[in-house]
Amino acid sequence: MTSERIHKLRKILDDLSLDAILFTHPPNIRYFCGFTGSEGVLVVDLTATFFLTDSRYTQQARGEVFSDNIREYKVREDEIQSLLKERPARRVGFEADFLAFGKVRKLEEKTAGEVEWVPLGAEIRSLRGEKNIQEIDKIRHAAGLNFSAFEEVLPLIKPGKSEREVALALEFALKKLGGEEKAFDFIVASGFRGALPHGIASEKKICFGELVTIDFGIRWEGYHSDETITVAVGQVPDKLEAVFDTVLAAHDRAIEKIRPGMSLREIDGFARQYIVDNGFGDYFGHGLGHGVGLEVHEYPVLSPRSEDVAVEGMVVTVEPGVYIPEVGGVRIEDMILITSDGCEVLTRIPKNMRILSL
Ligand code: ZN
Ligand code: ZN
Repeated sequence: MTSERIHKLRKILDDLSLDAILFTHPPNIRYFCGFTGSEGVLVVDLTATFFLTDSRYTQQARGEVFSDNIREYKVREDEIQSLLKERPARRVGFEADFLAFGKVRKLEEKTAGEVEWVPLGAEIRSLRGEKNIQEIDKIRHAAGLNFSAFEEVLPLIKPGKSEREVALALEFALKKLGGEEKAFDFIVASGFRGALPHGIASEKKICFGELVTIDFGIRWEGYHSDETITVAVGQVPDKLEAVFDTVLAAHDRAIEKIRPGMSLREIDGFARQYIVDNGFGDYFGHGLGHGVGLEVHEYPVLSPRSEDVAVEGMVVTVEPGVYIPEVGGVRIEDMILITSDGCEVLTRIPKNMRILSL
């Protein structure tokens, strides 16, 4: 599995006339050599791979890393410099999306006259886009944890409970079920706070007649779930019900139409146009979705600016939302797997209007 991935990298080395690529971004390092720790770098050249880490991680690396060589460093840049000199590697790519400018500068200074550093962006961005069966199983499992945790916490979503209590209960349930770490700070946005697309759970108490938007996810074996459900606590005003119906229909439309080969911009458009046609176009400010995998937000992006195409094996979210200032909002999010002839929804919580009876 890993060697197939390394093979893809060697093709990039070849295409871009690079001698090596230096990886520093942990999810990429994990993807290409299996290392799950937080300190280390991976150097891939045309004939060998080198994983470098500090003494805290050498033992761990020996147990889990697929690499031709594992080396220990005291000063990271020194070890990178001497390795590149030894190979020798003169034109070396790095992850321009992730390596901080100051660190690039430091490497340039260390290797002055020896290495030409080549920023890589689009050339490597899509490498983790198509998931294999093992990755899909992990994502499916993480989505299953969301389902079980939500069922457990549902009775807590009622008047008088604070958003924070709901968020904490969800986190506790997810971890009790075996989840590793929350994927992000959970959003629990009730009533008027529903108008905040990223309303992190607050001390606000849930009231009767409100919609509550809950966006949450967990990491399991490195892979993430990401899902949003909006529920009604008792009967909500007609306007919010109309917003809910519009968002749900936009979400369903996009999922129904997705096929491999379609442009991601077009998929975004299916949901967006429906929301515009229903008069809420001004209130849907974000993209329709994003890739999910070793990172909860990763390549690709589904938005009016997307340049990419849906490919079988991609796992992406579909998450239209309408947010009306001072009134409230609705977002509905599922994770889908793009299949050979459409898509499969991986998240399992039903998204139809749920009016919690009290
Ligand atoms: Zn989400
Ligand atoms: Zn999302």
